[in-house]
Amino acid sequence: MIVEGPDPFDIEKFNHNEAWCPFCAEEVYDDTTYCPYCKEYIEGKTLASHPEVVKFSKRGRMFLMAVILVGFAWSFFVFMAQFFDGLFHWFRGILIGS
Ligand SMILES: [Zn+2]
Repeated sequence: MIVEGPDPFDIEKFNHNEAWCPFCAEEVYDDTTYCPYCKEYIEGKTLASHPEVVKFSKRGRMFLMAVILVGFAWSFFVFMAQFFDGLFHWFRGILIGS
């Protein structure tokens, strides 16, 4: 495949500043002041990616955080269990002398 220059589709995509209304999720111009669909004031508040994508990445990040947190909690629990188990055996060794 020979690439002779930017694809016309890519140019069109590049020149068109995609933005979405944060209120009604309709596609709008990123420099618009009021949303033509829901008439909300959205200057400087437009979303750079589709709201569904934003929602998904937010949810994905939260899920990742939850997984990391659970992983930390679990490894901490296992560590503490082993620590107290070892401490218990050590303590019993002192008391009983096994
Ligand atoms: Zn809107």
